[in-house]
Amino acid sequence: MPSQIRFGAGRITELNEISKNLGKKCLMVSRPVNGSQKETYKRINTILAEAGVSVFHFDEIIPNPTTEGVENGIKKALEHQVDFVLGVGGGSVMDSAKLIAFLYTENGKVDWEDAIEKYSNPFAIGKSPDSALPFVAVSTTSGTGSQSTQAAVVTDTANKNKVTIFHSGLFPSVSIVDPELMLSVPAHVTAATGFDAFTHAFESYLGNLTSPLTESMSLQAIKIVFDYLPKAIENSSDIEARTQLAWADTLAGMCLANGGAQLPHPLGEIIGGICPRVAHGETLAIVYPEFLKYKEPLAQEKFARVARYINSKDDTRSLSERIIALLETVKLSEALQRTNLTEDEYQEITNHPLLGLLQPDNTDQINSIMSNSLT
Ligand code: NAD
Repeated sequence: MPSQIRFGAGRITELNEISKNLGKKCLMVSRPVNGSQKETYKRINTILAEAGVSVFHFDEIIPNPTTEGVENGIKKALEHQVDFVLGVGGGSVMDSAKLIAFLYTENGKVDWEDAIEKYSNPFAIGKSPDSALPFVAVSTTSGTGSQSTQAAVVTDTANKNKVTIFHSGLFPSVSIVDPELMLSVPAHVTAATGFDAFTHAFESYLGNLTSPLTESMSLQAIKIVFDYLPKAIENSSDIEARTQLAWADTLAGMCLANGGAQLPHPLGEIIGGICPRVAHGETLAIVYPEFLKYKEPLAQEKFARVARYINSKDDTRSLSERIIALLETVKLSEALQRTNLTEDEYQEITNHPLLGLLQPDNTDQINSIMSNSLT
């Protein structure tokens, strides 16, 4: 795990000491400056001012972030000749900030086709570009694990494609995971992000790249999501629940970084590429019931092990039943209804060329998982 992770309530203050070691000028990447995280940005500005660091605030990142956002961020970094990049936000902001730092060049141009092709293997070992800037992540949601992964997801708007760029240089140099910054996350975002963390832990556990270390982290993260996600939704200022979820998210990110994801992720990204209004965690909730039906018979032993780990003695439900019940409790079972898919979007999604490439010997089943998920 190459990132240094500073975990715990109040640890945002350590940005003072961290930033002093990285330079005098910082590009802070975030959502709009006057939005729901205004107070967090103010607090960080004060910490950085006390460290003698000048902050140039780039606040144009949107959920399901785009290649244009990254390019504009690089322009701003160039304009101010910053020494390092700081991403303060959920996965959309952290991923954009990662790419601004990693793809930064003195001419400000990004060759996306080349980057997407060159950085497509999650486990490739390689040197970062010489021009890359140091990157610090401050996570403000508990879901994507981006603070502990080598991945960054961005929407290639021209092609309506959500793509993931992988490189060991995309592990942040330092990540601050401070649950105090998550107290303001609204219930629907808490639900979508908490379920996302569950999927990272669960899907990496189902894969064949696990190790005893990732398996134990996965089980822990899965149990935490079941125990604490409903509590954080019921009471947004429950700091114990926020801390537990932030921990599950960070562990699940490490599991994802080492074990990878499974079918729901590319399926969810097809939906997110065509319907960027739908949150990543919601796209996963849409495909999960059909995925579970398909996967449980193929991975009975692993499903049973997870169920044994999380179930109390008097709870005899199967794991799939428990996952579906969790989706209902946190109102993610309504995600498809909220999406209001148009007929054109349905056609675009169900005819997406990637569906034929995921498991070429099993295309009919993959197509039915997608179409059944959308009806
Ligand atoms: P997000 O970053 O899009 O944020 C969702 C909403 O919550 C936004 O409106 C944001 O402004 C708001 N928000 C964030 N923190 C808040 C806070 N503390 N208080 C109030 N509001 C807050 O959502 P996300 O789920 O964290 O990130 C999704 C993105 O991450 C997607 O693009 C997804 O594909 C990507 N992702 C990346 C990885 C990875 O390994 N890099 C893994 C999974 C998903």
